[in-house]
Amino acid sequence: MAAKRIGILGAMPEEINGIVSLLKGRSEVIKGMRTYYIGTINDIEVVVVFSRWGKVASATTVTHLIVEFGITELIFTGVAGAISKDLNIGDIVIANSLVQHDLDARPIMKQFEIPLLGKTILYPSEKLFNIVVSSTNELIKNDGLANLFSLSECHAFSLFNQKVVVGQIASGDQFISSSIEKEKLLKVIPNVLCVEMEGAAVAQVCYEYNIPFVIIRTISDSANENSIIDFKEFTAKIASKLGVIIVQKLVNNLKNDFYH
Ligand code: SAH
Repeated sequence: MAAKRIGILGAMPEEINGIVSLLKGRSEVIKGMRTYYIGTINDIEVVVVFSRWGKVASATTVTHLIVEFGITELIFTGVAGAISKDLNIGDIVIANSLVQHDLDARPIMKQFEIPLLGKTILYPSEKLFNIVVSSTNELIKNDGLANLFSLSECHAFSLFNQKVVVGQIASGDQFISSSIEKEKLLKVIPNVLCVEMEGAAVAQVCYEYNIPFVIIRTISDSANENSIIDFKEFTAKIASKLGVIIVQKLVNNLKNDFYH
């Protein structure tokens, strides 16, 4: 079996910096306005990179990871706006399916259909998905987050009630920040849990190259009129740190599952 090389793609520079600081034997390659950090976490080879924002940018970055660095699986981490009323800021969503909500070639194709693939929805690798769900749940249950954040931050962002939720993520080249846009999205994609700008594009590239992937998102805002305030505060104070511990725990669990 070929050696594992995990691609870690993040949508927040702060989070990437935290993950990069975990790397041993680190080297860097700069290409196409992106810096790829190569090294190991717990003796597993990883390549870490900031995805940049939006579908084109993130698709380009993941293609480079696959073609130039030969990654064997892909973990994506970032933040998202909640569409489901059951989600709160701080909750973690793990995609069990992804759709590009701005892809619409009607009347030539069905709404959301990816040209030439004939699919509207893409699914993560089941094995990787299961490991991510269990390791993220473990993190919330056992380790708790109170050690990582101050008591006032835990209260401010309701981190004591944080939950891990599995469901559908919609991606598009749009920052959703109004209740009207949110309602519109819910009408056409009733099962959608949250919205972001990269996941389904990354999923498409991984599908086409047959690379197992998983998309993890922490809710940073409620995709409404408060979005921009919530988003900025949450990403700066909480999400950047949270992503690092999620990845660290996950790579540890991947090691146990894949290597022993
Ligand atoms: N941090 C940048 C903006 C990044 S773009 C700035 O402040 O200028 C927004 C990022 O957050 C993308 O990675 C996107 O996937 C995610 N995101 C969070 N909430 C979102 C929302 N409500 N709608 C769309 N994307 C959202």
